[in-house]
Amino acid sequence: MGTVFDIIVIGGGIAGMSAAAELSRDHKVCVLERETAAGYHSTGRSAATFVPSYGPPAFQALARASEGFFTGADPQFWTEPLLSPRGEVMMIAPGEEAHIAEGEALGLTHMPLDELKRRVPLLKQDQLVAALIDEAARDIDVDLLLQGYMKLLRSRGGEIRFKTEVTGFTRHYGAWQVQTAGGENFSAGLVVNAAGAWASEVARLAKAQPIAITPKRRSAMLLDLPEDCALDGWPLCFGAGETFYFKPMGGRLMLSPADATPVDPHDAWADDMALAEAVEKFQQVIDFEVTHAGQTWGGLRSFAPDGNPVAGFDEAQDHFVWLAGQGGYGIQSTPALARLIYAMVNSSDAIRQSTYNGLELAAISPARFPGGGETEVNQ
Ligand SMILES: Cc1cc2nc3c(=O)[nH]c(=O)nc-3n(C[C@H](O)[C@H](O)[C@H](O)COP(=O)(O)OP(=O)(O)OC[C@H]3O[C@@H](n4cnc5c(N)ncnc54)[C@H](O)[C@@H]3O)c2cc1C
Repeated sequence: MGTVFDIIVIGGGIAGMSAAAELSRDHKVCVLERETAAGYHSTGRSAATFVPSYGPPAFQALARASEGFFTGADPQFWTEPLLSPRGEVMMIAPGEEAHIAEGEALGLTHMPLDELKRRVPLLKQDQLVAALIDEAARDIDVDLLLQGYMKLLRSRGGEIRFKTEVTGFTRHYGAWQVQTAGGENFSAGLVVNAAGAWASEVARLAKAQPIAITPKRRSAMLLDLPEDCALDGWPLCFGAGETFYFKPMGGRLMLSPADATPVDPHDAWADDMALAEAVEKFQQVIDFEVTHAGQTWGGLRSFAPDGNPVAGFDEAQDHFVWLAGQGGYGIQSTPALARLIYAMVNSSDAIRQSTYNGLELAAISPARFPGGGETEVNQ
């Protein structure tokens, strides 16, 4: 029968750890993670930004609903602030003026180019016609967030098993039997699928709904800039239409081509061609010659066919809960999604039908994909 828990959470990224921490309030919970450490895949490879105006309306609502957690997190588990000022700027080059209305509609405000130049001294101001800023955009300390959730989980008696890959499921007297690659079996009344890029694969093993969660690769690199360029004060800057972006990260500058190439789930690496194109765009607006790439990496942003998250009970399998498809917004929406999963697991059917912090739950429910999801939007 294996080791018995109330709930098994599959995936030790931010989604799995946060949901497990919430659920452990009144359940015996265990997280099963294939890798040797938490956050090895998407969670550890993000741009670490909180931008409530970014993404589809469902994610915007979830980010807004998460803000109170980020700013008021329990100091016992989160000993430092989780958010710090950054700002996000949409750069408008000649010919891109049509994007101005898009930025205005998202609540971004016009920023004089002189002012942007003051914050980004290396800016080639004459290459832009306008800039719009979202001052609400902040940096997230992702490692602190993840470690805090793990501490909270363990303080409530929850367990985390690393090097434990889930390879199969069976049902036995109404409970899930979860098989793992190492041979150890686990038993639980409920399974939460927080397997990130592998969420469809895990669902297939459990004979749950065939919802197509598509991983899309995004590449990034770190650049060393001159010490006197006041890097700390730079906002995140992105090309209109999200063609590339850059932001300070740990004393260096992260540059990304904002690529979104559909791939199979895997341990991702950077696309060098895409990075080369990003360097070209970067050098058009920043007076700095990139002579060599520092560290480069790739990460997977995983999307449901309509771009919304998939959170809630499966339609085909009892006691199987989805927490997947967080795309490029999975860190900033995590506190609200984790609490939503807790509410769904603990409450009556009402929570499955209603709204949550202004979000129509039908928009994120697995039930919206009766056939597994057909149409795909570009992300
Ligand atoms: C370049 C980049 C920039 C980003 N920037 C931002 C940003 O600024 N802000 C933001 O909010 N989001 C951002 N994101 C998105 C964010 O990183 C993701 O949405 C989030 O990390 C998803 O978390 P997760 O826990 O679902 O996935 P993951 O962190 O990938 O965790 C899933 C885990 O499941 C495990 N797993 C899979 N299958 C099994 C199995 N069979 N058995 C056991 N374990 C299994 C995997 O090993 C993995 O550790 C970015 C992503 C990328 C790639």
